Amino acid sequence: MTEEKQFNLILLGPPGAGKGTQAGLLVNAYDLLHVSTGDMLRSAIKEGSATGLKAQEYMSKGELVPDSIVTQLVVDRMGKPDASGGVILDGFPRTKPQAEALDNSLKENGRTIDVVLYVNASLDVIIQRLTGRRVCPECGMNYHITNIPPRKEGVCDTCNVDLFQREDDEPETVKNRLVVYEKSTKDLIGYYREKGLLEEVNGDISAEELFEEVDSLFRGEGLVK
Ligand code: AMP
Repeated sequence: MTEEKQFNLILLGPPGAGKGTQAGLLVNAYDLLHVSTGDMLRSAIKEGSATGLKAQEYMSKGELVPDSIVTQLVVDRMGKPDASGGVILDGFPRTKPQAEALDNSLKENGRTIDVVLYVNASLDVIIQRLTGRRVCPECGMNYHITNIPPRKEGVCDTCNVDLFQREDDEPETVKNRLVVYEKSTKDLIGYYREKGLLEEVNGDISAEELFEEVDSLFRGEGLVK
């Protein structure tokens, strides 16, 4: 794949705005690599690696994992061959130092960010989505008790195993994640707006409706064919 064809996108927004769901739809539509730091950290925890053990201390409380750990994960992942056609960064960067480290790494590798999609959502929608989310421990599929219910209550449609609630989706931790977002991540909206990269969309609407809107936005700007 040539450099010209590469499309690199950042998904920014509060937890629960639907970034992960949008990322799933976008990677399929444009054949990009989905780089989710949350997923990578959860895999590291599952494997019981040193990174996972360290990350768990922070994640269980809804705090941010140190910048150096997540930045290294992303830089390594973006250096793999399957990232050469472009990536969707979901949940990264979350702090100014992460954004700056990403800028440096992209520069060194002759890459650029094409667009930062800021998925905003209202507080009641965010809380309803996060506290109702249930996850399959086998395939990682996200369900929701009312919005995306499995065929059989509490059981994955594909793997037939019990779904679980992420520890950090419990109400007290959700509150802290939102505080952390306001304190550490919200500034990145201004950071990317100043660079002329920000596109804001409304995450309150359904995932399918939002995808159609985003797709026509990207097509209109000639970012995808
Ligand atoms: P997410 O799945 O994106 O909601 O992330 C879940 C948790 O993983 C967050 O609450 C943080 O503890 C941690 N995490 C994910 N991405 C980052 C990041 N870019 N920087 C620091 N911590 C992160």
